Amino acid sequence: MQSILKTILSLAAAGTMMVSAPLDEAAPQHDMDGPVFLANRQWKVSRYYIPENMRQAQVQGQVRTLREEAATALEEMYAACKEEKNITLTSISGYRSYATQRAIYNRKLDRVGSKAKADEYVARPGASEHQLGLAMDVSQKGKSNLSASFAKQGGGKWVAENCWRFGFIIRYQKGWEDITGYEYEPWHVRYVGKEVAAAIHKNEMPLETFLLLLREEKLMDIMIVEE
Ligand SMILES: [Zn+2]
Repeated sequence: MQSILKTILSLAAAGTMMVSAPLDEAAPQHDMDGPVFLANRQWKVSRYYIPENMRQAQVQGQVRTLREEAATALEEMYAACKEEKNITLTSISGYRSYATQRAIYNRKLDRVGSKAKADEYVARPGASEHQLGLAMDVSQKGKSNLSASFAKQGGGKWVAENCWRFGFIIRYQKGWEDITGYEYEPWHVRYVGKEVAAAIHKNEMPLETFLLLLREEKLMDIMIVEE
């Protein structure tokens, strides 16, 4: 049994996870610096949270700041895509501070006039997992940025099939909108570590569902059967 899963399961068993709703039960929310900390519209990141150990990933692109382990994994992934497909992936947006999210939200609020309207377009500050320093919006050199067409491009296809090898998952898939709270975003990858990424890839499920299963120890059973 892999170490991360073991740790999560023991924490779940010890009852140290916060419990108030199904998603809350799922998340090991005591550990903001952990690779599976859940950030979504229900689970917002504290306004004071700034990850430690961030650095610029040595890849092409715009905002390339990520937490150390995610930056290293991203560099490996981009290098592998270049080597295997001769495609250069680029980075559009990595770490995004609470202040930046708030500014984006307030700009939208000014434009549309009500929070109800603004919420349709933009997540509230703290709801973006970009604040964790573990998410990257990926693009392919020479192609338009952050569009659904990324899924049909060579780079996008390669990322969808291979990102798990480097510890990333495609966080917002088609058909998962009700669970993740986000539309399909083929360009948005989230670092969760290699063990968890492999399990999520294999079982084709959102991070929320994976954490729920983990909580119920069902995934442990799946993994033991297959080992
Ligand atoms: Zn994103």
